[in-house]
Amino acid sequence: VNFRTGKFDRTKIAPMWRGFCPMEAVESLTDVDLQALADRGKRLILVDVDNTLLPWRSEDIPESTFHWLEHAKKLGFDVCILSNTRHRERLKRLSEKMGIDYLLGRFKPSRRMYLAALQKYKREPAEAVMIGDQLVTDILGANRSGIEAIWVKQMTERDLITTKINRAFERFLRGFFYRTLPVETILEDGVAKTAGVSLVERPIVRQFAKFVIIGAMSFVIDAGLHYLLMFVVPVHGEPLGTALGGWLVQNYPQIFGSPPRVSDAAFPVLKVFSATISIFNGFFWNRRWTFKIRGREDRFKHLVKFFTVALIGLILNTVIASGLNNVVPGHARWSWAVGTAVATVVVAFWNFTGHRLWTFRQKTS
Ligand SMILES: [Mg+2]
Repeated sequence: VNFRTGKFDRTKIAPMWRGFCPMEAVESLTDVDLQALADRGKRLILVDVDNTLLPWRSEDIPESTFHWLEHAKKLGFDVCILSNTRHRERLKRLSEKMGIDYLLGRFKPSRRMYLAALQKYKREPAEAVMIGDQLVTDILGANRSGIEAIWVKQMTERDLITTKINRAFERFLRGFFYRTLPVETILEDGVAKTAGVSLVERPIVRQFAKFVIIGAMSFVIDAGLHYLLMFVVPVHGEPLGTALGGWLVQNYPQIFGSPPRVSDAAFPVLKVFSATISIFNGFFWNRRWTFKIRGREDRFKHLVKFFTVALIGLILNTVIASGLNNVVPGHARWSWAVGTAVATVVVAFWNFTGHRLWTFRQKTS
């Protein structure tokens, strides 16, 4: 999952993780809306140094950081660095270059430095905001002190070794937080698209993943049931396939003739049965789980449409697979593998699109 920006709904985060959750995530300092902070009564900006104001270990302060600080000062903010660094001399040099104060003290997420800063500038927690690149130190410490926190994407991938461990935990945490980001739907060429959401979180991708899982389940049901009926389920001491085959050959010789094995006659009949059951399975789970339709309304209509799409899919499958029967000249097995693979993928997309846009299409009011 890539770093995502936006405002988090902290009320939706389990209390256990809430302390780590910032109010907002931004790509860089320049994306912090200083005017909005000022309008909301913020007067004091507490800020982390490494990977927030400048790259870790560096002494080259980016131009953009200078501009941002200038803008903040112009708006009347007090800006103060809260740092966990052990390199006091470097911190001192940096703070002089940037023209802002710094505090050193008990490690963030301890509340000590935050409270000292509030005292120093005579501000209430509600008047302050913390900006930093680490959830486990910067953000947690701010939340513990009742100070709103803004999370910036780390400037470089380079980190202290202990920080790298924090990053692994961050990746775990942010998965929870991202779920609370609003899903923005934008219209692009008349088609609704989901913006600001990573690929795996897009509804259509999730739907397709569910569809594929159900497809696999239906395949197991189809093949498994067919096998059981053909060779396992006993009728009068012989497998159902053999018994049914014998009966079919005896009663409908004009259709079934005399196959090498009588069970061959039962093969297609039982196949239609197991395939039908597997389509019902696909219908039930896709309607309920993939496309989230509840209740009986339109259920029969959905079923008819579902079978129609599936039937066309079956024809498509047969046409493609047999059309590619000789796709690798002279290699029957390779041709079979390629044909089957292509047909499976094409039919999966056909069925999915058909069900999505036609079978289970929801009227939008
Ligand atoms: Mg940092």
